[in-house]
Amino acid sequence: MIELKGLNKWYGDFHVLRDINLSVRKGERIVICGPSGSGKSTMIRCINHLEEHQEGDIVVNGMPLTQDIKQIEAIRRNVGMVFQHFNLFPHLTVLENCCLAPIWVQKRPRKEAEAEAMQYLERVRIADQAHKFPGQLSGGQQQRVAIARSLCLSPEVMLFDEPTSALDPEMIKEVLDVMVELANEGMTMLCVTHEMGFAKTVADRVIFMDQGQIIEENAPEPFFNNPQSERTQLFLSQIL
Ligand code: ADP
Ligand code: MG
Repeated sequence: MIELKGLNKWYGDFHVLRDINLSVRKGERIVICGPSGSGKSTMIRCINHLEEHQEGDIVVNGMPLTQDIKQIEAIRRNVGMVFQHFNLFPHLTVLENCCLAPIWVQKRPRKEAEAEAMQYLERVRIADQAHKFPGQLSGGQQQRVAIARSLCLSPEVMLFDEPTSALDPEMIKEVLDVMVELANEGMTMLCVTHEMGFAKTVADRVIFMDQGQIIEENAPEPFFNNPQSERTQLFLSQIL
């Protein structure tokens, strides 16, 4: 579903991603962790070309990522993304946020787009808030709306970039519960998160990044119980 081969990226002189190789099968759930500044966000943002890479190949669902805007758009249609700071449109209601891309990008009839959006809002248990504005919701509710909004485009892959790290502790669980359900339904997921309970419950593989490199990757059990690299051990000792 996702293939990164020999991926290198620089911000000016700064070598932010160093020879990243990663392949993700359909239905696989990958958790990415690592210190702040290690390149986690940059790596997942390269997958839907929110960031440009300079060397290496990215293939998503069989489509190579090239400079061709048509190809980039095709990949973006397959890839949903949820950010740390929800990024909802404040002047649109919850339902309007969800329907914007289906109506204007996918050219779906409004009625149909709204009916489907309501189904996804129900799945994230927030359908009763459909006519409110984002500012009237809690952080946890807004993040669930952001997840529903992504799902409205029927992505094949979901990328999550620290979706719970801006939330108050009591709201983290409601967002993680929705993510666990998505995982159980077989969604291919790449999640940058430091929620190690989530990683243990749903991840097929945990990846540790440091200084732009993948240092270690393993199934959760050996990853947490028997980390190989000193850097992984140090990181885990700091967060667990
Ligand atoms: P992480 O998500 O692991 O915290 P990031 O991918 O956000 O790491 O950032 C990796 C490194 O790249 C950091 O040192 C950060 O300061 C730098 N960086 C991120 N975005 C930019 C940018 N747009 N321009 C220059 N440097 C950047
Ligand atoms: Mg980040």
